[in-house]
Amino acid sequence: MTKPRIAIFDFACCEGCQLQIVNLEEDILSLLAVADVVEWREAISDQSDEYDIAIIEGSITRPEDETRLKDIREKAKVLIAMGACATMGGVNKLKNNFDLNEVKECVYADDAEMPHLNTAMTKAVDEVVTVDFKIHGCPMDKAEFAYIVRSLLLGKTPEIPEYPVCVECKAKGNPCLWEDEQLCLGPVIRAGCGARCPSSGFRCFGCRGYVDNPNVDAAKEVVDKYGLDIEDLKTKMVLFGSTQEPTV
Ligand code: SF4
Ligand code: SF4
Ligand code: SF4
Repeated sequence: MTKPRIAIFDFACCEGCQLQIVNLEEDILSLLAVADVVEWREAISDQSDEYDIAIIEGSITRPEDETRLKDIREKAKVLIAMGACATMGGVNKLKNNFDLNEVKECVYADDAEMPHLNTAMTKAVDEVVTVDFKIHGCPMDKAEFAYIVRSLLLGKTPEIPEYPVCVECKAKGNPCLWEDEQLCLGPVIRAGCGARCPSSGFRCFGCRGYVDNPNVDAAKEVVDKYGLDIEDLKTKMVLFGSTQEPTV
């Protein structure tokens, strides 16, 4: 039986999510037993125009990136956006809050006008093409990556948490950081990370994006209790998708 072919592509990003795949170590071997990786710049030298599953890391920051992404979408039966850069623009989207010429000059100084340093407003992958599945987080969680890819290879639909980080945080018995005057985004952000940051004493910064159907009443209850409102929470969603509009 022919194995499904997987191709991994990177756009604007730090490649930390690809590193998470490498960190799977022996788990990679079990994935390779049921699929062929035909393109993956960080790990292999092969390139291919024929693949079934395309995994996209990074956000789209130049017109030529959009052309490349659309070409990949045409060839792939399934397209997965991997990591916060791909799923919501990520830290690259911070530049959308500034004049792009000023951003270029700030970063590249006298070289800012060089043609290969062309830039545009940052977009998440689903702002350019249809995305079939998203693997959330910055970086994405390697175990969740393995679960999602394995499910797809088995013809199953992976189940991604549809509840907020607070659920996992409370299940761990953590004291709420709002008591410590940290404006934690847990009430509106998608769970699945095991409430990693609040469990270490840091507020949730929102790297997994807004949960699709947040329990608005419960979130309001939290913010009301501390004399704030949902708008205050939105202003804290600046790091990973600064112009992303929540569904709350
Ligand atoms: S989501 Fe985070 S870890 Fe992954 S590529 Fe983007 S910046 Fe790097
Ligand atoms: S707001 Fe943050 S610290 Fe408080 S319960 Fe929710 S996730 Fe935990
Ligand atoms: S707690 Fe929030 S910022 Fe931290 S890993 Fe989870 S979703 Fe990301």
